[in-house]
Amino acid sequence: MELAHRATILTPSLTLAIDSKAKAMKAEGIDVCSFGAGEPDCDTPEHIKAAAMASLDGGFTKYTPSSGIPELRQAISEKFHKDNGIDYKPNQIIVSNGAKHSCYNAVLAVCEPGDEVIIPAPYWLSYPEMVRLAGGEPVIVHTKQENDWKMTPEEFEGAMTPRTKMVIVNSPGNPTGSVYTKEELEALVEIAATEDIFILSDEIYEKLTYDGAEHVSIASLSKTAYDLTITINGFSKAYAMTGWRLGYLGAPEAIAKAIDAIQSHSTSNPCSFAQKGGLAALKGDQTAVEEMRQEFDVRRQYMVERLRAIDRVTVVEPKGAFYVLANISGFGLNSTEFAERLLTKHHVAVVPGVAFGDDRTIRLSYATGLDVIKKGLDRIDEFCKSF
Ligand SMILES: *Cc1c(COP(=O)(O)O)cnc(C)c1O
Repeated sequence: MELAHRATILTPSLTLAIDSKAKAMKAEGIDVCSFGAGEPDCDTPEHIKAAAMASLDGGFTKYTPSSGIPELRQAISEKFHKDNGIDYKPNQIIVSNGAKHSCYNAVLAVCEPGDEVIIPAPYWLSYPEMVRLAGGEPVIVHTKQENDWKMTPEEFEGAMTPRTKMVIVNSPGNPTGSVYTKEELEALVEIAATEDIFILSDEIYEKLTYDGAEHVSIASLSKTAYDLTITINGFSKAYAMTGWRLGYLGAPEAIAKAIDAIQSHSTSNPCSFAQKGGLAALKGDQTAVEEMRQEFDVRRQYMVERLRAIDRVTVVEPKGAFYVLANISGFGLNSTEFAERLLTKHHVAVVPGVAFGDDRTIRLSYATGLDVIKKGLDRIDEFCKSF
């Protein structure tokens, strides 16, 4: 039996391996402090759940238009205008089964076999695999810690070839927590514009910024930026709705139309009643979002302070999302060895940076209670002192 080439080139998720070991240890009754979480630790706000339940009770259980129900696309159009300063008409918006699905649809719509896609590392681990699935080639740009893990215009330009089709920008970033400034984004757009390179802007963490860092949407920068950019967003992170599988994108009309066709023949529409929940999320009270952000900020500051106090660990203070990327290269182990020993000996689960294309780092999520963070950092401190 021979599988399709595209199915054989994917890297099995490393994060899952550590995660399943941590789960197995917990099942044995071991008290594991887990910093692996890629999702908020709070529940979806009640009014969002209530809207979905009411729609189920009301029999809203059938297929919807493939790109989403009109009232949700309208609400997203208004959201883009109000929050991001981007004018996308409802027909430029496609609602999908999560922002991950939106990213994948966008890559499929734009990339042909042989096309290159520039991805700054440390990256969200699904980007290179999506590009490979589309037959494209990920071109990894290794960003520098001293540049706050952000890709410079020179690094971007240096990675470009005549085959470059797209660049992926994720700000605020996972796993780095880095937030690009308006000027930094303008410089990247200027370079992309010289060769009409598409920009996939993953803005899923836009609501989670700290220390006055401001999220800027690339498509809002200029007409040129607007024409080149596909803006990705969703409900998972801001509204603690990861299990709902609901995300969306806005794009120039021709791209949106192509993505709608792809989606209509692959997954059809996003879940009907999840869309009603999404509508309530956008239209309803936003205080839960700000409360979550403030809670994350307290944990972020604590975690950074504790990590910085450890000899040989270096950390760029993250300005967004809910992760801290710590450089552990001073211990002479690669990231997998470090994470495995930390888990086995001290019962702390972190994600090895090799999963994000950087073997010098580990990622710690602070989407977990302050008590766990405190205990876990005591253990990490102890582990690091044992070298
Ligand atoms: C979590 C995450 C997403 C996807 O979220 P969905 O649950 O698919 O909406 C997209 N991009 C990044 C960088 C993420 O961390």
